[in-house]
Amino acid sequence: MRKICTGCGECAAACSDKENPSEFNMGLGQRSAIYVPFPQAVPNKPVIDRLRCSYFKTGKCKFCVTKCPAQAIRLDQQMKL
Ligand code: SF4
Ligand code: SF4
Repeated sequence: MRKICTGCGECAAACSDKENPSEFNMGLGQRSAIYVPFPQAVPNKPVIDRLRCSYFKTGKCKFCVTKCPAQAIRLDQQMKL
């Protein structure tokens, strides 16, 4: 049974694609392809930017999946974190 995201942030830290403009700072900061949409979001759970994510662009990379301690990330189906 799939466990539920705890909001630990390990996936964002492990993401191989971190050079994406952050919407929070009017594009001045950067975020990973998997990220929490709003820093104060409740629940504090990430989403994947499919236009930036290497897996969706090339079919390779699953760093976030392998690093997630809750096994909450499924790249082959709709994310349900
Ligand atoms: S998806 Fe996994 S690694 Fe990412 S915040 Fe949730 S529990 Fe942590
Ligand atoms: S699969 Fe996508 S979101 Fe996950 S680590 Fe790779 S680039 Fe980041």
